[in-house]
Amino acid sequence: MKNLWSERDAKAAQRRYARLGVKRDLALRVYTTRLLGSVPALVLHGGGNTSLKTVTADARGEETEVLRVKGSGRDMASVEPADLPALRFEPLRRLMDLDRLDDTDMVDVLRTASLEGRAPTPSVETLLHAFLPHRFIDHTHANAILALTNQHDGAKICAAVFGQRVGVVPYVRSGLALARKAHAVYSANPNVDGLILLKHGIVTFGDDAKTAYTRMIKLVSLAEARLAKGRKRIFAVGRIPRRIAPVAAVAPILRGLTAIAEDVQARRFRRPILAFRSNRRIRAFVDGAKVGHYARRGPATPDHAIRIKPWPLIVAPPVAGKLDAFAAATKAAVEEFQTAYRACFARHARRHAAPLCELDPMPRVILVPGLGLFGLGETASDAVVAADLAEANIDVITGAEAIGRYQSISEAKVFDIEYWSLEQAKLGDKAKGRLAGHVMAVTGGASGIGAATARAFAGEGAQVAVLDRDHAGARAVAAEIGGLGLGCDVTDSDDVARAFACVAERYGGLDIVVSNAGAAWQGRIGEVSDDVLRQSFELNFWAHQSVAQSAVAVMRAQGLGGCLLFNTSKQAINPGPDFGPYGLPKATTLFLMRQYAVDHGADGIRSNAVNADRIRSGLLTDDMIRTRSKARGLNRRDYMSGNLLGVEVTASDVARAFVDLALAIKTTAAVITVDGGNIAASLR
Ligand code: ZN
Repeated sequence: MKNLWSERDAKAAQRRYARLGVKRDLALRVYTTRLLGSVPALVLHGGGNTSLKTVTADARGEETEVLRVKGSGRDMASVEPADLPALRFEPLRRLMDLDRLDDTDMVDVLRTASLEGRAPTPSVETLLHAFLPHRFIDHTHANAILALTNQHDGAKICAAVFGQRVGVVPYVRSGLALARKAHAVYSANPNVDGLILLKHGIVTFGDDAKTAYTRMIKLVSLAEARLAKGRKRIFAVGRIPRRIAPVAAVAPILRGLTAIAEDVQARRFRRPILAFRSNRRIRAFVDGAKVGHYARRGPATPDHAIRIKPWPLIVAPPVAGKLDAFAAATKAAVEEFQTAYRACFARHARRHAAPLCELDPMPRVILVPGLGLFGLGETASDAVVAADLAEANIDVITGAEAIGRYQSISEAKVFDIEYWSLEQAKLGDKAKGRLAGHVMAVTGGASGIGAATARAFAGEGAQVAVLDRDHAGARAVAAEIGGLGLGCDVTDSDDVARAFACVAERYGGLDIVVSNAGAAWQGRIGEVSDDVLRQSFELNFWAHQSVAQSAVAVMRAQGLGGCLLFNTSKQAINPGPDFGPYGLPKATTLFLMRQYAVDHGADGIRSNAVNADRIRSGLLTDDMIRTRSKARGLNRRDYMSGNLLGVEVTASDVARAFVDLALAIKTTAAVITVDGGNIAASLR
């Protein structure tokens, strides 16, 4: 493990924070916390923590001894001084003599010790930092340390690797008990550089930031050197068929089977988002003949349990061309997973005095031999977190198996972490949109109605894929809403299929499509060339058919229903002079919408359209508005609001109609008009 300390960067951090009134020791505390947080093999996603003992002025200006410790669940990689709340030191130290302290009392003590009322909740490991005497304390869940200590003889291995440089603390759940135990081990040999917390992580300390950090890197490097002496070939390969189905075909099946039904008839599901990953190490692990044994022995460090459950779901390798058999076998595997999870809950919940509420029994990690792994979450970022943790677990288990046999804490202890209210609190109550968990794609999403639609769906919590011929434009809109931007020529059905495969690879499937891309061709119908008419049909009809067909294939593989939305236009109902080349394919597309409603209603796939008119966009440019309003003797404003309501209709009004239709779960074959009122284009 590389030591990343740089005198120059350390000085720069001091200068930067000095300008904000932050003292030298806290600036360096932030600097090394970030150094540790920047290395995934040390900590991931809110794991690990650091602290500093210092003095600070309270509201009255009186100097007070404080412990600044990382807030619970805060990410070390991007920590700021405000993420390290300051706690009065004395009330914390006084807890050292207590024999027990229940959770609510501990949180009360931590909160009332805080100097700032609105500061983040301090780490559940705060007391460990408080009881040890050092000014700087660093704590990580380094993979290499976990590989050494997740063994039945972890303590012996540590003694051989580290000698007298560390104290070894047996596994105890974080809180008062661990803090006292760690303090006792330290007191027995105060010359140590750090403490190994068996099956949990490592603590190093020092009187300055550099010493604590350097000791961390040194001890983790010793662990890595020991692991490097292990066996090279670790897992015997299982029987993997030669022809494996692609990720894009497998993901929708997994997603469909791991969604939780809230109302099956109405196709209301809690849909997971999937994040796929694969590399040589992951494949060696998931392809192993005995993956069902070594992958199910519990998490590498306890706090992973809240994000990846006590064990992953393992499925059979998906053979290309035989996905029906894969789906049937996976369905059985998911049911088995749920039964095992519920049984585990029943076994352990009764030990707890307070009644516990069972969490959802769906996996957060799926291992697919021949392919790789999937992380599952409520959002794309949750899914990525699960995949990251799964990867770290694979590294730890691989390391552990190289030198011995991987063994995590007991099932009961994993349960006590997963169902510990203070751990669950880290997941927080995120505000969820009405379309949370839904994956949507919009074509022509780089501008106008498409871009407004992408934003509107993202605002409702959907994961959005923005497709457009203009790749850079699609990427720009996607970047703004945290979505996926793809270049896609909708008139090329292969390109459409490729784009939808990318969406399924990134998010696991697809629930809603807004087929929006279009362009207006003109010409008097008695004179217009076939070329113009055919060109318009390519984009304004055939592209809608390609998009809908590709989408339906993914939706049917998922089995969760789906929602097709078409941008038709008032031309589909109410032809304007010389707009035949535009109106004819649009009218056909309106009928296409109805045909999908008829043919795929039984699949739970709804099909609806929006008729918009006179929207300022790429189709109706400012130049066109000028010419047309002039032709009618109107100023531009009166032209744009020339409808029954007398108001201009915007792209976001149309986007809202798409959202409304996506939410109207019992509406299909409907057209919504968004034009401010145009009686000639109104539908009966
Ligand atoms: Zn920890």
